[in-house]
Amino acid sequence: MLAMVLDAPGSPLREADLLVPEPGPGQVRLRVRACGVCRTDLHIVDGELREPKLPLVLGHQIVGEEVETGERLGVPWLGWTDGDCRYCTSGRENLCDRALFTGYQLDGGYAEYAVADRRYCFPIPESYADVQAAPLLCAGLIGYRSLRLAGEAERLGLYGFGASAHIITQVARAQGRRVFAFTRAGDEAAQSLARELGAEWAGDALGPPPEELDAAIIFAPVGELVPVALRAVGKGATVVCAGIHMSDIPSFPYELLWEERVLRSVANLTRVDGKEFLALAPQVPVSTEVEEYPLEQANEALDRLRAGRVRGAAVLTVSA
Ligand SMILES: [Zn+2]
Ligand SMILES: [Zn+2]
Repeated sequence: MLAMVLDAPGSPLREADLLVPEPGPGQVRLRVRACGVCRTDLHIVDGELREPKLPLVLGHQIVGEEVETGERLGVPWLGWTDGDCRYCTSGRENLCDRALFTGYQLDGGYAEYAVADRRYCFPIPESYADVQAAPLLCAGLIGYRSLRLAGEAERLGLYGFGASAHIITQVARAQGRRVFAFTRAGDEAAQSLARELGAEWAGDALGPPPEELDAAIIFAPVGELVPVALRAVGKGATVVCAGIHMSDIPSFPYELLWEERVLRSVANLTRVDGKEFLALAPQVPVSTEVEEYPLEQANEALDRLRAGRVRGAAVLTVSA
């Protein structure tokens, strides 16, 4: 099968001809239809996440068809947990000490076929086409978990308006919240997409916010945004860092955290998050804005994402 393989961080993916993977016990074999490209994939390629399996097939937003049954399944980032550590047994499998992640420690979906543990796969809501569904599986899921952990905020700030923010804006609007989108200076494309999807304001992340916020989610991997977001929120507000990697956070005066402001991160997902979000998405309904690339052009898709030029989410399509 055709696969795009990472041999070492810092090098482009290589177009390879691999054996179709054999499913192990409890695993299904999927014919991949589409696979979303995530910011996390870039962190792996760029060597910012340090312990990938190598060589590695990236990709953890897989929409595929089970070869045996024809059932359409989604494969997310959480690929396996031990089920018996302190985290797993307290409803926090996202923090499992021995978790294995798709497209990081397990081969993922930048390929014509993939195998996955059936217990961690999700049925894909029928109303979504393959490419439209792919970004729901990480951008949507992790975004949804971040939104939940941001609390009951009415005025919600989103820092970085990519795949996650464009989905979460729609969910937040459906919940009656007001959305403020903060982007790189002069990023007209992201700002206009944000307004189209229901943000009432979109502007420069480093400029002053139009009014005080009740919560903020930082999707951009930029540590400088932490004090910026803390300064923008009111008393008791939560600032959520949604990414798996961020540049260093500059020091800031305690007064930015004082008055019960909360700064926290979000790590991974639980299967409960997936079930909840995939039930919610068609009800909103969330529609995803995608740029499609054939599998062979995975490097081009990653380069565009790195440059901040993707409108919405990038998705690889597999025609085999
Ligand atoms: Zn565990
Ligand atoms: Zn992801």
